[in-house]
Amino acid sequence: MDYDVAIIGGGPAGLSAAIYAARGGLKTVVFEKGLIGGQIVLTADLENYPGFEENMSGFDLIDKMKKQADKFNAHFIEESVTAVGLEGFCKIIETSNNTYRVKSVIIATGAHPRKLAVPGEERLTGRGVSYCATCDGALYRDKIVAVVGGGDSAIEEALFLTRFTKKVYIIHRRDELRAVKIVQERALKNPKIEIVWDSIVQEILGEKFVESLLLYNKKTKEATFLNVNGAFIYVGIIPNNDLVESRVDLDRQGFIKTDMAMHTKIPGIYAAGDIVHKVLRQVVTAASDGATAAFSAEKWISENKENF
Ligand SMILES: Cc1cc2nc3c(=O)[nH]c(=O)nc-3n(C[C@H](O)[C@H](O)[C@H](O)COP(=O)(O)OP(=O)(O)OC[C@H]3O[C@@H](n4cnc5c(N)ncnc54)[C@H](O)[C@@H]3O)c2cc1C
Repeated sequence: MDYDVAIIGGGPAGLSAAIYAARGGLKTVVFEKGLIGGQIVLTADLENYPGFEENMSGFDLIDKMKKQADKFNAHFIEESVTAVGLEGFCKIIETSNNTYRVKSVIIATGAHPRKLAVPGEERLTGRGVSYCATCDGALYRDKIVAVVGGGDSAIEEALFLTRFTKKVYIIHRRDELRAVKIVQERALKNPKIEIVWDSIVQEILGEKFVESLLLYNKKTKEATFLNVNGAFIYVGIIPNNDLVESRVDLDRQGFIKTDMAMHTKIPGIYAAGDIVHKVLRQVVTAASDGATAAFSAEKWISENKENF
């Protein structure tokens, strides 16, 4: 066997699993197809990870997690996993360059932003349409932007955008926000933020760059144009489940169902982080899942050592 445990995905869940597995003496590999760190590297202010009361970026936390995994000799392969063989005692991991034989697998492939799926969105992506305020916010200095959504990510990113912009509209389809109270209060108090309630975006308009949004108010049934220079979209996340979709149990949205030990229904296969069916998708819960999955993989390997 090439490795005891293969972790697919180098976000907070994968890195936490790597720290626990490698520290537990397992020969551990993490496969990451993009930037090590996953979704949180795009966040400028990480305020709610326990133990760090001073402002810290997602990048800073990931840097620390990666160094900790390196310290315990976790191996990193920066390639996309293209196929997996999950049955039996020899699991197979395929990338475009290689095939690896491993004893157990932790799926930590995370999630990606849901699109609005309205006319103009795709054409103007990178030309005013963005899914990452941290990446693109500074480009909108003294401009007017809209944030679409009403959950934690939407409101936190709207607050972040007020550092640069002249005005931030939050377009929300309901008459109350879903974000946690403390974040809502900050947004409601911020003089640069105006919330457009009960409204959905029907089209994003602009010739070369975003110029306006066509909004529809669900209560008044009126359609209006809102002039903006950018549209930041935070309307939910979609699980990255393509590798295992038909082989493990999924919930209705496509998140992987596990038991409390992060075990999927296949022996030796675990899932951790945002890809999992759960209540709260945050760094702290991803890290917790990763630790549990690694602990479970270690136990399974030691209980089945005569089979490898
Ligand atoms: C804008 C925004 C703001 C946020 N703010 C906060 C916050 O303030 N506090 C907080 O706690 N959480 C925050 N979150 C949530 C947090 O980022 C996630 O809960 C966390 O990143 C989940 O970690 P994960 O490891 O499960 O998945 P991810 O971070 O999604 O990482 C998964 C990784 O797997 C890789 N991958 C996927 N498929 C493959 C493959 N086939 N082969 C190899 N690699 C693969 C991906 O490239 C990715 O790097 C925020 C999220 C967003 C989008």
